[in-house]
Amino acid sequence: MKKKTQKQLDTFLEKLAERNPHQPEFQQAVKEVLQSVVPYIAQHEKYQDQALLERITEPERIITFRVVWQDDDGALHVNRGYRVQFNSAIGPYKGGIRFTPTVTPSVLKFLAFEQIFKNSLTGLPMGGGKGGSDFNPRDRSDSEVMRFCQAFMTELYRHIGPDTDIPAGDINVSAREIGYLYGQYKKIANVHQPVLTGKGLAYGGSKIRTEATGYGNVFFMREMLKRVGKEIEGTTAVVSGSGNVAQHTAEKWIALGGKVLAMSDSDGTIYDESGISQEKLEWIKDLKNNKRGRIKEYAKEFDAEFREGKKPWDIKSDVAFPCATQNEIEKKDAEKLVKNGCQALSEGANMPCTEAAMEVLRDSDILYAPGKASNAGGVAVSGLEISQNILRLSWSREEVEERLEKIMQEIHEKCLEYGIDDNGNADYVKGANIAGFVKVADAMIALGV
Ligand code: NDP
Repeated sequence: MKKKTQKQLDTFLEKLAERNPHQPEFQQAVKEVLQSVVPYIAQHEKYQDQALLERITEPERIITFRVVWQDDDGALHVNRGYRVQFNSAIGPYKGGIRFTPTVTPSVLKFLAFEQIFKNSLTGLPMGGGKGGSDFNPRDRSDSEVMRFCQAFMTELYRHIGPDTDIPAGDINVSAREIGYLYGQYKKIANVHQPVLTGKGLAYGGSKIRTEATGYGNVFFMREMLKRVGKEIEGTTAVVSGSGNVAQHTAEKWIALGGKVLAMSDSDGTIYDESGISQEKLEWIKDLKNNKRGRIKEYAKEFDAEFREGKKPWDIKSDVAFPCATQNEIEKKDAEKLVKNGCQALSEGANMPCTEAAMEVLRDSDILYAPGKASNAGGVAVSGLEISQNILRLSWSREEVEERLEKIMQEIHEKCLEYGIDDNGNADYVKGANIAGFVKVADAMIALGV
């Protein structure tokens, strides 16, 4: 980066930190995107003198609300609900809802900011948003989760709509929670319309939506490997997490002939040297999705190793898929991956690498796919779910998967369009950031202020 451009970026980031104090995740996400975008703007007059950086880093609207609900013993609890409606230049706000105690305005602003560029990359007309609550569903009964979801939607419903804002699931919000949220929306609004995606197949969901983020992650990895003449067949992978994205990343990897050595949850990692087969993965799905158990139970069931409190990054493998949460790969983890000869890493989670870890990966020979490109399959199929709802049609599994594959290939191509360096190497981080930015910036300029 030229000195003058670097100075502009540093000055802007200083101001951003002043305007958004105590929001480290948001500041980290903005810095990551602007490191690619600011030099691009410096070379393209069209994007200058538009206050684009100031505008694109300021959410259009943030809604905060009180959620009061009653537990099974009759005690009352108060949580905080949020919806960050960040940018609607190219379409209605779109992005998931997350329920975990670590939900803060900083985390949701980072996620909504990332979502702007991710949604732009899919080629579908979707703006960026994100929401959630600091509610912890762990050890809560189904009835408690239902009452919480109903209380949450009782406020959220007035801020969303098929042409305004269409949330989906994220951490701890999957089929069960989406069902309760949608049920409450329908009860209040007395209308069936696409205001949520990730719905069950019985009431307007799309085939492959559950699988889409994980499958798309593997499709993106396949494109990266293909470009350098490598194949999935026989290639080993470690996957972090054992939730939605992790399960379906593992599933597609196994289906395409790869071997999965490890998965994890917030208690630790299971290492199965013989590989997690589809049959064992079905057991994990049942454990996690129905029994709501802990991954360590796998070790007992299948005589595998359980590494308490450990992440999977020190296990030697050909590729890595972080699919749990933000900043789960720190500098030392990235160094370990490089040292162990890992060839490619594709992010299923959002911003799973710290800034220092990203630097290590980008300075290495590892093919590195940022989440805004590689995990865009979920929101892409959410876009297809909306289309099917509007058309009142239900496409087959094959049709949706074929469209997903094509979208992931197109995202890969867009990354290359803006991300090839002078030596012909692909910088997917730069490519994804600029390709995502250009469409949104063009729309923002066209729409005026
Ligand atoms: P799930 O709730 O289904 O699964 C999350 C998994 O990550 C669980 O195994 C959980 O373990 C683990 N995890 C969560 N927090 C931590 C932590 N602090 N340390 C270690 N492990 C942790 O969520 P999803 O699979 O839907 O989401 C995973 C990631 O993918 C998130 O970053 C999300 O934003 C991103 N993503 C999801 C999309 C989707 O379609 N669902 C789309 C695009 C991105 P435990 O059970 O112990 O909590």
